[in-house]
Amino acid sequence: MEQANVVIIGGGVVGTAIAWELSGRTDDIFLLEQAPKLGMATSSRNSGVVHSGIYYPPEYLKARLCVEGNILVKEFCAAHGVPHNNCGKLVVAAKEADIPELEKIMQNGIVNGVQGLRMVGRERIKEREPHIAAVAALEVPSTGIVAAEELVKTFARVASERGANILTNARVVSLDARGGAIAVGIEVGDPAEPDSLMREVVEARCVVNSAGLYADEVAALLGNKSYRIYPVRGEYAELVRSKANMVNALVYPLPHHDRLSLGVHLTRTLWDTVLIGPTARYVKEKNDYESDRQPLEDFWKGALALLPEVKLEDMRLAYSGIRPKLVPPDGHGMADFVITRDPNCPQAIHLVGIESPGLTSAPAIARLVAKMVAETLD
Ligand SMILES: Cc1cc2nc3c(=O)[nH]c(=O)nc-3n(C[C@H](O)[C@H](O)[C@H](O)COP(=O)(O)OP(=O)(O)OC[C@H]3O[C@@H](n4cnc5c(N)ncnc54)[C@H](O)[C@@H]3O)c2cc1C
Repeated sequence: MEQANVVIIGGGVVGTAIAWELSGRTDDIFLLEQAPKLGMATSSRNSGVVHSGIYYPPEYLKARLCVEGNILVKEFCAAHGVPHNNCGKLVVAAKEADIPELEKIMQNGIVNGVQGLRMVGRERIKEREPHIAAVAALEVPSTGIVAAEELVKTFARVASERGANILTNARVVSLDARGGAIAVGIEVGDPAEPDSLMREVVEARCVVNSAGLYADEVAALLGNKSYRIYPVRGEYAELVRSKANMVNALVYPLPHHDRLSLGVHLTRTLWDTVLIGPTARYVKEKNDYESDRQPLEDFWKGALALLPEVKLEDMRLAYSGIRPKLVPPDGHGMADFVITRDPNCPQAIHLVGIESPGLTSAPAIARLVAKMVAETLD
């Protein structure tokens, strides 16, 4: 049986960032990803925004890890040539009555340690975004965008250069706590060819569950049934190429009152396309990206509120992603990231509900998890 110090389950941005962070200081690390490629789930189906940390309650892990992650992601991108752009964003008030709400967000951001926030009027909005209709805006200079898939690949490449073992087509199917270690049962091979699948076991001194949408199911392999992840789909439309010059950077409305999402916003990507979305809707399956897609007209309504000139024919449907929510459909609002040891098996660390701003927070989450891993291995 193979021996490991650490097994990381899940090769999304969080798992690969953890492998990168640990690989400098620990040997015998395995990262196991069930899909044939890394980062194909939520980590490559998002807006690619490096958030600032203005929205989250100051006592939340999300607030601290997002502000720290914003700096770390940019440092990592600059050091390793990952495409990113520190373009800044505007959160806009459509009417005077919305301004106090914007000011509240600004105060929350200041408490969270977000730098450079300021309220701006029509003139500055026009200078930055001439096609946007708004009476005032909160300007957030630290928000940026990143090539999310490239970020995942680069975390993994550097981790593997520093000795981490990164395996794809490797699905964790059992976790068995034995004394001070955990036996990790793995199905290796392409699930499309069941005859080729092989079973292997790695004995690990520490297991990190960063299985994204499936983190509740992975925790349950250890008998821990305390989590339930609700898949919430976020769908996007985009502006057709010839209209993409209507938006220069990132423009957000006030966050949705249901606090399920930040509201349908406009994101100019690194590829000079403009995304409109994401929407937020509970779905039954964790891998159902396409059934019953929302019509283009739904996106048009949201876009018109920000961009009065936009026409339905200026838009087309784009991709979708699925958020791993801890809040049930009849619940209200936001839940914090859960990063905790298993109560019955402290060598296992669960990361549950790593929804937005998980892409931004990934290297800060990795630092936190690395400390917990070090305590386990000491
Ligand atoms: C629509 C949308 C927009 C978003 N926009 C942003 C944004 O702009 N900025 C931001 O900061 N965040 C954003 N997010 C959130 C961000 O994308 C996620 O927080 C982040 O990608 C989570 O990464 P992860 O590694 O935890 O999960 P994932 O990317 O889901 O990775 C988990 C991996 O675990 C693997 N896995 C699961 N079970 C097993 C198993 N048993 N064995 C082996 N492997 C397994 C899966 O195949 C998967 O690859 C957005 C999310 C959505 C859905």
